[in-house]
Amino acid sequence: MSAPSDPKSRSLKPATLLVHGGSLRSPFGEMSEALFLTQSFAYPTMQAAEARFKGDDPGFIYSRFSNPTVAMFEQRMCLLEGAEAARATASGMAAVTAALLSQVKCGDHVVAARALFGSCLYVVEELLPRFGVSATLVDGADLAQWKAAIRKETKVLFLETPTNPGLEVYDLKALADLAHEAGARLVVDNVFATPLLQKPLELGADIVVYSATKHIDGQGRCLGGVILGSQALIEENLHNFLRQTGPAMSPFNAWVMLKGLETLQLRVAQQTSTAARIADFLASQSGIARVLYPFRDDHPQAALARRQMTGGGTLVTFEVVGGKEAAFAFANALGVVKISNNLGDAKSLITHPATTTHQRLTPEARAALGISEGLLRLSVGLEDPDDLIDDMERGLSAARARA
Ligand SMILES: *Cc1c(COP(=O)(O)O)cnc(C)c1O
Repeated sequence: MSAPSDPKSRSLKPATLLVHGGSLRSPFGEMSEALFLTQSFAYPTMQAAEARFKGDDPGFIYSRFSNPTVAMFEQRMCLLEGAEAARATASGMAAVTAALLSQVKCGDHVVAARALFGSCLYVVEELLPRFGVSATLVDGADLAQWKAAIRKETKVLFLETPTNPGLEVYDLKALADLAHEAGARLVVDNVFATPLLQKPLELGADIVVYSATKHIDGQGRCLGGVILGSQALIEENLHNFLRQTGPAMSPFNAWVMLKGLETLQLRVAQQTSTAARIADFLASQSGIARVLYPFRDDHPQAALARRQMTGGGTLVTFEVVGGKEAAFAFANALGVVKISNNLGDAKSLITHPATTTHQRLTPEARAALGISEGLLRLSVGLEDPDDLIDDMERGLSAARARA
């Protein structure tokens, strides 16, 4: 295998890194990244096996630990994110769970924003406390609440921004400073922003996690996750945890993700531009109570979003007048946009959080997150923007008839 990457490659622009970054070539010189669908690796001699297990020879041992195709994906993600090290996982939730569990032990404390992806909320609220790790949930936009929640046992601050589904934006720089003053680490789930529109590590975060299932695959195929941070943090906290507990990414999925990364910038740019246009269109229509989009001036954290992100993202959340019945009528009337709780796909997808992803929450908890009965979350895909606007018009007519 040839050298993993040009040492100068960190100075290349993202579009270039997304196509070439981290490529390893076998002696065949294949142009497209090879799929090493293998569990294990043969050693030429017993001495070589011994050296590899000792760590004296950096070669591959077993695909639960690492694999050439997975390593290419990890390296490409490092270059894109500006991280020293990365580990790929089987899903986004495997990444979140490992990123949190590997940092804490019994007696420790975690502070997290209340507005979390449903499964992240389960890990923080239900799983960690089972092992003696307590958690405090706060309103992520209120720095005073974060400050008040931190105690001497606090090891991790955890958040997503923009949030699901309310697209709230939290101040990463301020929260990183707060975490570090307290001797804690900031872990950021950066899925909604994508690696292109927001750089948490540059703003002081210690760990960034992704569900690669979303924009990184971008075409609705494979599950995957990735955890990025400093070499020391990944090696000391995560490496052994992942190696021994086994939430490894399949080489096949890593290969799909590598192909996804090649078009990530084009897709995210196009989807963001269409999302901004749809947000503005919806905001101009009767029958829509409010539109949430980070780069619109009426977004509660618009100034922060513009400071911290380079685009408003590929999701638009809006509230239809007329509650659940009108929201259902809106979504059911759509032809191009499909009803699905996924996001970041090339296909536009719409979901009703109150009855799907956030159904498990009490009505009070939903209200605290602004998840009303009329709220819909749209993940904008790669279709022609005019066709999507026409679809929104179909939805609006149906919703107005029920309002
Ligand atoms: C989808 C998602 C996850 C979980 O990822 P999976 O790949 O589905 O396990 C975690 N956080 C956010 C913000 C997500 O959107």
